[in-house]
Amino acid sequence: MTKLRLPELTLSDGATDFIDDAKLHDLLVAPPPDAARVREVVAKSLAKQALSVEETAVLLRAEDPELVEEIFAAARRLKQDVYGNRIVLFAPLYIGNDCVNDCVYCAFRHSNRDEVRRTLSPDEIRQQVEALENRGHKRLILVFGEHPRYDADFIHDCVQTVYSVKVGHGEIRRVNINAAPFDVAGFKRIKEARIGTFQIFQETYHHATFAEFHPRHTRKGHYLWRLDSLCRAQEAGIDDVGIGALFGLYDWRFEVLGLVTHALHLQARFGVGPHTISFPRVRRAHGVRLSERWFVNDYDFKRLVAILRLAVPYTGLILTAREPPELRRELLGFGVSQIDAGTRIELGGYTEAGDAQCLQREQFELGDIRSLDEVMGDLLTDGYIPSFCTACYRLGRTGEHFMEFAIPGFIKRFCTPNALLTAMEYLVDYASPQTRAAGLKLIENELAQMPPTKAKDQLVERLRRIQTTEDRDLYF
Ligand code: SAM
Ligand code: SF4
Repeated sequence: MTKLRLPELTLSDGATDFIDDAKLHDLLVAPPPDAARVREVVAKSLAKQALSVEETAVLLRAEDPELVEEIFAAARRLKQDVYGNRIVLFAPLYIGNDCVNDCVYCAFRHSNRDEVRRTLSPDEIRQQVEALENRGHKRLILVFGEHPRYDADFIHDCVQTVYSVKVGHGEIRRVNINAAPFDVAGFKRIKEARIGTFQIFQETYHHATFAEFHPRHTRKGHYLWRLDSLCRAQEAGIDDVGIGALFGLYDWRFEVLGLVTHALHLQARFGVGPHTISFPRVRRAHGVRLSERWFVNDYDFKRLVAILRLAVPYTGLILTAREPPELRRELLGFGVSQIDAGTRIELGGYTEAGDAQCLQREQFELGDIRSLDEVMGDLLTDGYIPSFCTACYRLGRTGEHFMEFAIPGFIKRFCTPNALLTAMEYLVDYASPQTRAAGLKLIENELAQMPPTKAKDQLVERLRRIQTTEDRDLYF
């Protein structure tokens, strides 16, 4: 057995356990709100204000189908009015699945002896990145199990390897991380590699459930070490962090309150909330058997996405390929801002996997294994602008979701043009003929809707350069 050699746990300055289970439960068992109260809360969100935990609970207690429809409609409206029709695309790249933890829901857990264990070498990482670039990806998230060998230096070096790979017009412009929590020094080291978002999911905010799924003798069994992790990331200077909960372990409404509490805590303590929220639902995984008691059905899943959209209007929402294509399509309208596409999560899966998934080689089963080109084609046909934009991050404009939301004209001036420029790169360099045709049509429609301005002329000129020259990576 691997010897657990992990450094001492040093929390952030002033770390506190800010999740009060009893308070959150009380908010959920209060009587159902009347329609007027629900509408008041919705109106606050549509007036561009984040909701409090209490106000979020009002929306969670609204069970009347008509009120739920109003919540759906408000989420769609917020998405449409505020964010428009862009969807950012990325792909996960699993680097290693050795793990010292024993999370009950995960195929990578230490006690799962049947899982094929593997850590990609630098050469293997390069091969995977080449394959991803050749398909048109520009944004990756690197995923790691928790293991002493996946220390901060290791992650730092993996990120540098990824950035060093360039094939043809391909390059990775933003690398996000989903890995175990570090101490402040560890986060600082990883930041040096120029990472985008550091994601850590609390999995469940409910203390007793957390203990049930994460054995106490494991590193992950330490609730506060994990809850405090993104505060340490902030202390280390990583101001771009992503929170998440794994839905299906406990009452979904409690988890939504946990996420909102967490977001407000980060906002209050560091002046900046989380960049993204993820809300994976538990999936079938090799050797995993879970009670279905808290599984979230599709209707409630839509509710939770709509309520999150309203509660934290300027936080990005990430919907992953765990969910099937039809449901993903529907949820895009509720304010999801990022999705992964062309996803493979077997180690080495971008060059080695065939069409079928192999549960023994992956963390869980995916619901959507369409190729990037198929997803692009479907998005374009549905009128979305797929975006690989990384401009804000590259120009040091952090907090872009806040700017999109709060600065009038920001989206028109920056986001839409940049989305169109990156979409054009994809269409010229990687798309199938059908996807290219659908994309060019969409770009034409978007341009037709823009009033004639100097900025529009610049955009048209840049789009033309991408189509007719080798110039790439043009952004505002
Ligand atoms: N090992 C690190 C950790 O646990 O923080 C990195 C993340 S893990 C590789 C990525 C995420 O996958 C976990 O945080 C968890 O939410 C999710 N996950 C694990 N098992 C899952 C399952 N059976 N179905 C869906 N998501 C799962
Ligand atoms: Fe390890 Fe993460 Fe899986 Fe838990 S969820 S067993 S920490 S890889």
